[in-house]
Amino acid sequence: MSEVARRICPVCEAGCSLEVAHEGRSVTGIRGAKSDILSRGFICPKGAALKELDADPDRLRQPLVRRDGVLQPASWDEAFAAIRRGLMPLIEAHGRDSVATYVGNPTAHNYELALGFGVMAKALGSPYVFTAGTVDQVPKQVSSGLMFGSRMAVPVPDIDRSDYLLMLGANPIVSNGSLWMAPDFRGRLREMKARGGKLIIIDPRRSETAEVADRHHFIRPAGDAWFLMALLHVMLREGALLTPALAPHVNGFEDISALAAEVDLARASAACGIGMAEIETIARELVSTPRAAVYGRIGTTAQKYGTLTSWLIDAVNVVAGNLDVPGGAMFADPPAFGDVYGGNGPEGFAIHRYTARVTGHPEVLGEFPLAALAEEIEGNDEGRIRALICMAGNPVLSAPNAARLDKALGTLDFMVAIDIYLSETARHADVVLPGVSPLEKGHYDSFLSFFMTRNVARFSAPVFPLANNALSEWRIMLTLAAIVSGMGADDASVSALEDGVLADIAGPDAGLLHGRGHRGVEAWLDMELRRGPFGSGSDENGHGLTLDKVLAAPDGIDLGALQPRLPGMLRTASGKVELAPQILVDEARRMLAGEAADEDQMSLIGRRQVRSNNSWMHNLPMLAKGPFRCTLMVNPADAARLNITEGGLARVRARTGMIEVQVEITDEIAPGVVSLPHGWGHDMAGAGLSVAAERPGVNSNVLTDDADLDAITGTAVLNGIPVRLEAVG
Ligand code: SF4
Repeated sequence: MSEVARRICPVCEAGCSLEVAHEGRSVTGIRGAKSDILSRGFICPKGAALKELDADPDRLRQPLVRRDGVLQPASWDEAFAAIRRGLMPLIEAHGRDSVATYVGNPTAHNYELALGFGVMAKALGSPYVFTAGTVDQVPKQVSSGLMFGSRMAVPVPDIDRSDYLLMLGANPIVSNGSLWMAPDFRGRLREMKARGGKLIIIDPRRSETAEVADRHHFIRPAGDAWFLMALLHVMLREGALLTPALAPHVNGFEDISALAAEVDLARASAACGIGMAEIETIARELVSTPRAAVYGRIGTTAQKYGTLTSWLIDAVNVVAGNLDVPGGAMFADPPAFGDVYGGNGPEGFAIHRYTARVTGHPEVLGEFPLAALAEEIEGNDEGRIRALICMAGNPVLSAPNAARLDKALGTLDFMVAIDIYLSETARHADVVLPGVSPLEKGHYDSFLSFFMTRNVARFSAPVFPLANNALSEWRIMLTLAAIVSGMGADDASVSALEDGVLADIAGPDAGLLHGRGHRGVEAWLDMELRRGPFGSGSDENGHGLTLDKVLAAPDGIDLGALQPRLPGMLRTASGKVELAPQILVDEARRMLAGEAADEDQMSLIGRRQVRSNNSWMHNLPMLAKGPFRCTLMVNPADAARLNITEGGLARVRARTGMIEVQVEITDEIAPGVVSLPHGWGHDMAGAGLSVAAERPGVNSNVLTDDADLDAITGTAVLNGIPVRLEAVG
């Protein structure tokens, strides 16, 4: 008999709600759920491909343990015993710092893993935490921390009420929002345009979003900070003042005014490649349009001036009077986990609190840059990393100077991977623990609800029960926590650890945890919903949120449009928005005083593709079919100059490596810039991705330099890599 179940798609930040049609354990089709209050029926090919992900014969369904050099199927007990044997002697001999953790991007879309990782990392007690954030969004979280006092206080465009959006380094027609939950972006944009709204795109590539924008301007890679400084210069020169609503809550207006006055508009225009007249027009439009916002994504974070640029985006939003107003850049109000993710330590928001032992990289957000991981493993330093727990990540394809990290991982004394595939990274592991099918676990947007375009509470229960022999990811993380705590990995010990962890988290709210009909991670979610801003507290008959109420509303519970939240949501020591944090003002002056970029130097940037999601969706035939997508985009003028032909091979060289890649000649890309998607390079021996291996593509991160980083956060420069290009043969 055919049935339909609901599932929030866990692949990307859009969080589309899906209808999963199935007969017994077999999925017959997946489509967008029209009645969902946030995603409104939207689905992309990746959501539909969850059917193939669920059934993929390459998906791991059993732990693997390395015996005699070969990864072989094992029982869970054998796998956990092997982990104890591998990790504990290293911890005893070399300390907890000898074990590092790596957290991949899918964790942000998986509340069991995300919360479970926190428990495991605390039990492990190693400062050597690395995440995909330092090849992605960390600069935005740091600028938010410095300005608003919390890493999660990231304003998002209130597109449903906006009349003017300026976007830099973002492609929401493909992404449907990133650090921004805006499913059905195309539909939302259509509605904005019907109200007379305008979309302006700034990007070195005429992206899919630029194609539907009102205006598009090419910009030099990493020229965004120059462009934004120029906008501030024009706004302030023309007399912009803080609005009466913002003025009482903002520190630093004089400092930013002084900084902006130092900008030479002609020089800034030359540095970013956008004409002075266009800059002045955009500055005036931002100030004069009552409901307008600036938004930037990975092109603005994973680049040379990532934190500076991230700050300037919100500085422009403040100076133009567009922060925290309907239709402007607003803060979501997450219904749960606000303090779990958005809280600070006793010292408030702080960075650079300690340094890595080998490389000396400073800490940011409790982690070290992924760019430092290889060097922290290499060599004979007593303080080196000797073991790695790698969770839902594939840094062999995503880390800067990926070939170096690939080699370094091969020298570890011990490695554990938690993954749904035997990925290019997991192939180095001594033990691989299989994650579960996305259809066998519940979903709550614990992390992403900080970036919602409308406040909603949604939860989807597992479509199918856990397969025989599968272990929930929450339970996997608790068991690892038990092992590194020196406890038993048996059910009773892990349950005791779980009880202690939840009691600790509940603190005085222990009454919200028990007797409500939920266990484990769901009991934690229920408690967080109850004690959140829309929660019922302990009032069983109250009107507020509980997990049961959210479960009973498959379309989600609408908590309304985003509301102004200043000053209550601020976590800065001053209780105000810090418009001119000194570290960022210094960074701006460093840029202003620096040399202009070499105009003859070619630059490599990335690009996002609708049928791809980092490295882990390339094994699904539905997504893998069609034109080959791992191509290098080259402008026709550059192709002619370098004698490069359409469909031919080009050799791309950077400081760290060289690749040969198929060429696509297109005027989508600005002259002097080339673009290559990331997450490819599935031709490594020992990986278990048979479909992806048929058309492996090349790994763009062979060219990403582990020494070329955003100065404040150590985030890798993925956009604006200096390269040399030549025809092959
Ligand atoms: S845009 Fe696609 S991948 Fe992202 S959540 Fe929606 S269906 Fe899933």
